[in-house]
Amino acid sequence: MSFPNFNKLLFNCFVIKAFGFKKSFDKLMISCCSNFLEMLTFRRDMKNILTLIAVMLTLDFLSGQESKVENLSAAQELIETLTSDAFSGRGYHENGMDKAADFLKDEFEKLNLEKINGTYFQEFSMPINVIKDAKLTLNNKVLRYGIDFLVKPNSKTQYFHLKPIYNFSPTDFENALISEENLIKFIENDMTAQHGKHVVFPPHHFEIDSLNRYYKNWFSFYRPEENRNRSIFYFTKDKLTASLSMRQDSIAAFVIKDEFYDENLEINDYMIESEFITDFKARNILGKIEGRNKDSLIVITSHYDHLGKVGSTIFPGASDNASGVAFVLNLAAYFSKNQPKYSLAFMLFAAEEAGLVGSRYFVENPLFDLNKIKFLLNFDIMGAGENGIQIVNSSIYPQTYDLLQKINQEKQLTPQIKKRGEACNSDHCPFYEIGIPSFFTYTLGGPGFYHDPMDKAETLNLFGFSALQELFIEWIEKLE
Ligand SMILES: [Zn+2]
Repeated sequence: MSFPNFNKLLFNCFVIKAFGFKKSFDKLMISCCSNFLEMLTFRRDMKNILTLIAVMLTLDFLSGQESKVENLSAAQELIETLTSDAFSGRGYHENGMDKAADFLKDEFEKLNLEKINGTYFQEFSMPINVIKDAKLTLNNKVLRYGIDFLVKPNSKTQYFHLKPIYNFSPTDFENALISEENLIKFIENDMTAQHGKHVVFPPHHFEIDSLNRYYKNWFSFYRPEENRNRSIFYFTKDKLTASLSMRQDSIAAFVIKDEFYDENLEINDYMIESEFITDFKARNILGKIEGRNKDSLIVITSHYDHLGKVGSTIFPGASDNASGVAFVLNLAAYFSKNQPKYSLAFMLFAAEEAGLVGSRYFVENPLFDLNKIKFLLNFDIMGAGENGIQIVNSSIYPQTYDLLQKINQEKQLTPQIKKRGEACNSDHCPFYEIGIPSFFTYTLGGPGFYHDPMDKAETLNLFGFSALQELFIEWIEKLE
């Protein structure tokens, strides 16, 4: 199914969602939208889709109202562009993040956003360990990066060496926990037995914190030379979730799905190519729209970077966070045509995935007076919404939260606005830490692809997108 049809269908869902005020209408719409999503995901039955189109068009016609926010297809297009191969996962390999920065700066210019302090860019440098490629063959099976295995982001370059395998025993470790004496004996044996070998940590199903800690920190018990020519293989039952590291350690470590483990494991081949860069250059993107009241500022932020590319595996980061960038650009598009009450600063941060590096740099090197910020809205993971939204810091700022709730009660824009306390898990955090009132909003629902190669544009339902635009536009206009 092509995207224009997809968009039209979905958009009709939102038009009815946002403007079908009658309750019965709402019910019809909800079943209609969820049927649509179910069909899209599971059946792709053309006949049903055509019937649905007819139903949608009728409902659209009956609702007889126009949306304030009609650029869902523009958002879809932007997400497809940012997640395309040309941007290499917006990371540290093949200049992906850099290309995305140039592209997004052009988008700011097209929207006629003003520069901040004479510039659209704020450049900074940072250390990063770039995993450029990784391969692994176990039991004669070539594993797929990001799906079957990952490498620990602090890994060094390492090529295959034929070596015996040391199998760590989680059961023996658990048994040793009965006394300090037994544990010391276990660790002594462990240190002797691992010498000169590859190390395999089998999958374990113990929920023991000390075991998890031991697994995690095991490599740091050994001197770097122990790890010179060997690798460490962790098997896990958990979902594989990629991440980045700002340092390189002496290890070369693989994290592998537990289904590839067996007791007679054969390590046929592997390699990791990584490069530690001490001064990687990255850029935050900035723009503003002057409000009717120029003294106060509402800041709207989103990170545009993601995890990049390893070998031929791209981490597209559609949900995280091409969706948030599209959300912020759509707000900018609306307010570039409708002057806001307060001035608005739009900031797209780099290097969030490496640990909020871009936003922290801005807070430490601001390009405007941070005291002018009335409120900051950060958006990250905006591609779903069928289960509503959750807002970090909403329990810290109850009045601001109540205003959102009130708008939603009147207009029924999202199924729920879930409260949450503080959490340092996205770019609002460095601002919040110095006392700037801020919300971090993310959507609930969606297929659950996170920091993996499956987080693709076609997996986003954008269920809440248009209605949530409406919600935040109203909120921005009504904030006292
Ligand atoms: Zn994110």
